[in-house]
Amino acid sequence: MRTNLEKRILHGILILSINTLAILTGCSNSPQDAAKGGKGKDSTVTAANDHGPHDKTIATGDSKFAWKPPVYDSTKKYIYLTFDDGPQPPGTHQCFNICKELGIKATFFMVGQHASSPHLQALVDSIREGYPEILLANHSNTHASNHYQYFYQHPQMSHEDFLVAQKKLNVPYKIIRLPGNSAWVREGEVRASKLVKPVCMLLDSSGYNVIGWDVEWNFNHKTATPVQSADAMINMVNVALQRNETHTKNHVVILTHDRMFRHPSDADSLRKFITELKANPNYVFETIDNYPRLKTPSLEAKQ
Ligand SMILES: [Zn+2]
Repeated sequence: MRTNLEKRILHGILILSINTLAILTGCSNSPQDAAKGGKGKDSTVTAANDHGPHDKTIATGDSKFAWKPPVYDSTKKYIYLTFDDGPQPPGTHQCFNICKELGIKATFFMVGQHASSPHLQALVDSIREGYPEILLANHSNTHASNHYQYFYQHPQMSHEDFLVAQKKLNVPYKIIRLPGNSAWVREGEVRASKLVKPVCMLLDSSGYNVIGWDVEWNFNHKTATPVQSADAMINMVNVALQRNETHTKNHVVILTHDRMFRHPSDADSLRKFITELKANPNYVFETIDNYPRLKTPSLEAKQ
């Protein structure tokens, strides 16, 4: 016969074993598992994406763009992976396919003039049709012709340039990234350098959100290939979140460019970056329309 003390000790060991097992199982979301690409419960902003009844739903003829205010899980940290300057095949295809394959959400900020043929317009269409996993957003019509100073010193002209891109690319939400400049325009906020503030004020009054970035995956300007390794980028993302060095606490916006990942070895680097971040159970990939405090986005997509 066991004494009561022995029984209590055995009971304690049993509970401890069950808890340990639960923790190990919870951590089994290994890179290998993630690479299999199951979408599963990657997103915890499900309330923003299901299409059930919701008081604040902004309705449209195309129900997949019915925007709802995001709901965040306070135990999670949110990653917004963004690709700029597309459509630029084959990089755009590579990035799109990798996101789909790994079952993560991402945003493509595209340039109106880069959609210069029916084939490229079709590529923009496929990005738009990728919602809610993939979001199409506005990165201007001309990309400032890469003369940023001149572009931003003429705010009426640059404002018009964004409106042209919005229409031409049929961008669903009023969400912009400025070419060559990190600025933020959200509900009750215009955070911008002196150069871009005038166009940001105009965009704000036209109901647009402007999204900057926290972490950039740089590219070599001669070869358009990534500068940092996947490991270095993973570390930068972890550190930015840990040290609260992001524009919004627990939300990190990552800037990359489609064309950087056109070569298979660089595509593998992107795959590794996403896979390892996705394996962290505290991280959630989201599209940028789920970023905090955006103005209620007006829907622009054709009905
Ligand atoms: Zn750009």
